[in-house]
Amino acid sequence: MPQPQRKAVALISGGLDSMLAARLILDQGIHVEGINFFTGFCVEGHTHAIRKRDRARPKRNNALWVAEQLGIRLHIIDVSEPYKEVLLNPRHGYGANLNPCLDCKVFMVRKALEWMEANGFDFVITGEVLGQRPMSQRRDTFPVVARESGAHDRLLRPLCAKLLPPTLPEREGWVDRERLLDLSGRSRKRQIELAHRYGLHDFAQPAGGCCFLTDAAYSAKLADLWRARGRRDYTLDDIMLLKVGRHIRPRPHFKLIVAREEGENRFLEGYRRRFTHLYTVSHKGPLTLLDGEASEADLELAARITARFSQGRDAERVEVEVVERAGGSRRLTVAPMGRDEIPQGWYV
Ligand code: SF4
Repeated sequence: MPQPQRKAVALISGGLDSMLAARLILDQGIHVEGINFFTGFCVEGHTHAIRKRDRARPKRNNALWVAEQLGIRLHIIDVSEPYKEVLLNPRHGYGANLNPCLDCKVFMVRKALEWMEANGFDFVITGEVLGQRPMSQRRDTFPVVARESGAHDRLLRPLCAKLLPPTLPEREGWVDRERLLDLSGRSRKRQIELAHRYGLHDFAQPAGGCCFLTDAAYSAKLADLWRARGRRDYTLDDIMLLKVGRHIRPRPHFKLIVAREEGENRFLEGYRRRFTHLYTVSHKGPLTLLDGEASEADLELAARITARFSQGRDAERVEVEVVERAGGSRRLTVAPMGRDEIPQGWYV
């Protein structure tokens, strides 16, 4: 009797590894569909579109691009709500920054498994490589992901399968173990060779991890937000705003988000109504959002900082419009802060 065609769901991040893993399994005649999870912290996408310095780079969603190259369907799933629990209370703790990589992997594989079961698929594949990342891709943490996600031996890592015990798809003969790989370590040389052999050239090469949580500056801003609010919580808007602008905290009870360029100005415009905000009227300058509560003296200070980043920075007086969140606006005429008057410690 002919065997039914087996189906695998591939975690697709948009990077090279997950693309190659899916490709190896497709090559074995398995039906593959991709899943890309949106946590809110992904480096992908809109931050590149906002900032000018990234303008030369093509604006594309790399996960969609990968799916297109592979000719597979991609399911983009918003997990930003349930992901909060992963980030706020990681069972296995954080990596070098606020990256809960091991819990994150467990979570994503578990979600993929649920999808697999709901859609009649047979196994899950990931682009993990043994020893590539210090927290989640180690010989001792691989079984943790397989066990805690509930996937057990339905989780196949095609790029390093030969270094691991055979999984169900290999034992059942759905997949030929001999045609899987034995990649390990941090070098990407073999992956890049393989990509070129497949005729793939224009793939994304993320410098750090797959999300902002591995970034020290971003993690510092998130920790500051939790400290200032006195609780570890966040909304999607909070974490989007941490990706944009200069963040300056002159007082514990409020911070300023100052646009650095036109694109950021436009992005912050979208949040104007939800924050007390300031902008210069006598000179061109940035939009500044004020997050927190501010007294009269605080508003004056905020206006002076806003003026500092405007084209009136060397003028004696700059006129700043202050629009309070509660409604009502007025103009303050202030002396811009001097170059050295903003202490480094205020920058979050
Ligand atoms: S880098 Fe981010 S998305 Fe990737 S495993 Fe770590 S926490 Fe998860």
